[in-house]
Amino acid sequence: MLLTKTAYLAYRQCPKQLWLDAYQPELAAPPDPTAQRRLRAGQEVDRLARGQFPNGRSIPYHPQPEDIAPLTRQAIAEGAETLFQATFHVDDLLVKVDILTQTAAGWHLIEVKSSTQYKEAEHLPDIAFQVYVLRQAGLTVTQASLMHLNSDCLAPDLSNLFALTDVMEAVDAFLPTVAADTAVMRQLLAQPTPPNQSIGRHCTRPHACPFYDHCWQGVAGLTIYDIPRLNAQKERPLQEAGVLYLADIPPDAPLTATQHAFVAFHVAQQIEIDRVAIQQAVAELQFPLYFFDFETIDHAIPAFDGCKPYQQVPFQYSCHIVAEDGTMTHCDYLHTDGGDPRRPLAETLLNHIGETGSLIAYNISFERGVLRHLADHLPEYAERLHNMANRLWDQLPIFRQHYRDYRFGKSNSLKSVLPVIAPHLSYAMLDVSNGTQAQVVWEAMIGEGDTAVKQQMIQQLRDYCHLDTLAMVEIHNRLVCL
Ligand code: SF4
Repeated sequence: MLLTKTAYLAYRQCPKQLWLDAYQPELAAPPDPTAQRRLRAGQEVDRLARGQFPNGRSIPYHPQPEDIAPLTRQAIAEGAETLFQATFHVDDLLVKVDILTQTAAGWHLIEVKSSTQYKEAEHLPDIAFQVYVLRQAGLTVTQASLMHLNSDCLAPDLSNLFALTDVMEAVDAFLPTVAADTAVMRQLLAQPTPPNQSIGRHCTRPHACPFYDHCWQGVAGLTIYDIPRLNAQKERPLQEAGVLYLADIPPDAPLTATQHAFVAFHVAQQIEIDRVAIQQAVAELQFPLYFFDFETIDHAIPAFDGCKPYQQVPFQYSCHIVAEDGTMTHCDYLHTDGGDPRRPLAETLLNHIGETGSLIAYNISFERGVLRHLADHLPEYAERLHNMANRLWDQLPIFRQHYRDYRFGKSNSLKSVLPVIAPHLSYAMLDVSNGTQAQVVWEAMIGEGDTAVKQQMIQQLRDYCHLDTLAMVEIHNRLVCL
């Protein structure tokens, strides 16, 4: 059984993940469209990173990676100074290196990531494993770096798209851990059954485990992993005592007062509504009421002028407008071609939204950030866009401070609150049911050549965004009637 970087990172997240990956891969969920989108972005980032090394030489692909190692040796022997996908195979260890380049002192290993910064917990084991294998293969590695996206880069000038973070010192300190880990991995993989590993927060960190559905099947209701800010030290005794659900937590468990209160609230299935505070809050609203929501796209490689990596660029909005006499109208915008959506979207928005009245959103920091970005990009409309941003009113704090219901679960998001407040409205019937799906469908719609399919996607996106703002209207109607 080969110990690859993928296997090592699976082991670092969870020993059971390593074992299942090796022996029962059929239990893994296939990558969802959002993961596939991330993968495509990573491949594009990788392609551009290679462009930083014009004399680089790609090691050709081969279905058996261990057969690529001799090609790498051959390229080095022929004097190649920079290699892409250089592959090394020593005993049962195998790695492919994104970029390997020669310096006066030795080889410089560069791992390319589409993140905007170095994250030690995630990236250090990844790079250290590669350095470990290369040194086992006899290569003199004197430098190791993460090449990541530079959040100061602004399109269209992509000359500073990448930044390098030197991690050699941290890698050197981590190498004994890699050596110890690989020894344990061999033992684990020699076992006929998966290790006895409990579920926990590690199932979603640093990545969503593909075996989540398998390991969490049958788990229903809030667990100890839903308790806010419960650190590993407090979590461990509960795990060791076999406690999973909140109801099984002993009263003397070492939780903070806030954590005990969270547990008691959910175990007793409580509902707490401060009607006076809610009425005071909604009394601030001024008609007409604009129930408002943006959908945005965040390209890893900025696609439009003035955008940085992962800039939230709006491509759609929905707005339900309620007049003082109760009359409700709806308006929206959806950008349907591959050009920059910001100007046409902003101009339509300025036609739809008047100079007075409250703009109601759910978690307004997002909408405010998007409006400010539009104002920066379109200075001729900046005053009116800032005016809109200043009129935003947030429904979320109501559900943080004045309206608590055990049925919301661990979250106060719109998707958690809506089924309780307005059970007749549901995202379940929609083809697009969350913002990340909307991004995937929007990108697919932009590239779709079949008019009928494109129209279908357009309708899916409009239905989704329409429901988001209709949901806010329903929530508002409920709040004012409490
Ligand atoms: S779901 Fe959790 S316990 Fe199961 S393999 Fe993945 S990380 Fe391990």
